[in-house]
Amino acid sequence: MTKTDGIGALGLLSGGLDSQLAVRVLQQQGIAVRTVVFDSPFYSIDAAVKAAAALQVPLRIYDFTEDIIDLVEHAPHGFGKCMNPCIDCHARMLRQAGELLEEEGCRFLFTGEVLNERPMSQTRRAMLLVAQDSTFADLVLRPLSALALPPTRPELEGWVDRARLLELNGRRRTAQFALAKEFGLQSYPSPAGGCLLTEPNFCVRLKELREHEGYSDRRLVRLLRVGRHFRLPSGVKLVIGRDEADNARVSAMAADDYELVLTRDRPGPTGLLPAEASPQALQEAAAVVAFYAKCPPEGTEAIEVRRGGELLPPLESAPLTAARIEACRIG
Ligand code: SF4
Repeated sequence: MTKTDGIGALGLLSGGLDSQLAVRVLQQQGIAVRTVVFDSPFYSIDAAVKAAAALQVPLRIYDFTEDIIDLVEHAPHGFGKCMNPCIDCHARMLRQAGELLEEEGCRFLFTGEVLNERPMSQTRRAMLLVAQDSTFADLVLRPLSALALPPTRPELEGWVDRARLLELNGRRRTAQFALAKEFGLQSYPSPAGGCLLTEPNFCVRLKELREHEGYSDRRLVRLLRVGRHFRLPSGVKLVIGRDEADNARVSAMAADDYELVLTRDRPGPTGLLPAEASPQALQEAAAVVAFYAKCPPEGTEAIEVRRGGELLPPLESAPLTAARIEACRIG
């Protein structure tokens, strides 16, 4: 039994290797680790759920949608290469996690961040700024780089043994891979990826939505990660499934005030008009659906339109040309 045994710590778990290592480094000294992941339309929590199960640590899922949309609209510390407000996002996650400390029975926060591993959010300046902005600065421990950073309260108070923390620094991940082996960690996703706000094509869609409908309808924000997107000449947005699984997702996102546009006589893509559409918009959507249903240029396709449970009058449409498809495609 050491004096750190049983002290609770709440960690931000992405499911990536670094966050898993941070869990194990603290568990090694008897800390009772709990974790939290931040769910949003831009970030899949699947890796975190899988990692928490493998590590056998409790995982709390926090709905971060309102926070991240707020930051995408206004990021005081700016954006990375795309629309990723990483510094403000990290700070907000730590702030929200800090608010959970008492409820989770934990004394301090920790993350798997490694000094200088990422250019925007993991420089010394950025890491200190993030902790400061979170309003829980003295309670934010980075176990993997703690020895390269100023001591935090958990170290000064003896809640953790600083001597058993690490001094990782830089982009090379050799030390992390060696540690993963030592800890028997076998499954972890690649460090890049996971956040759609870092993907250029996704950000084209996100900006386009801001210019037209804005972000106030959260359903439209959630739709951004599904299928192909078009801005029709009438100004209405159209989303089309790419394959069967996508079609199912598109259909599942339809609401009573959205129209579904489908081929009537043979399999084809499912189109979704997330608005009460005019006859002109429905006809334009039918032409896009006919194109992706591979209707020959000289032919026409029978199209069915549904709103909620109701069947609207059917349409007949020639396919749009490839050039016009490209002209109205978003991202
Ligand atoms: S990559 Fe995405 S989830 Fe991660 S800190 Fe940046 S904005 Fe937030």
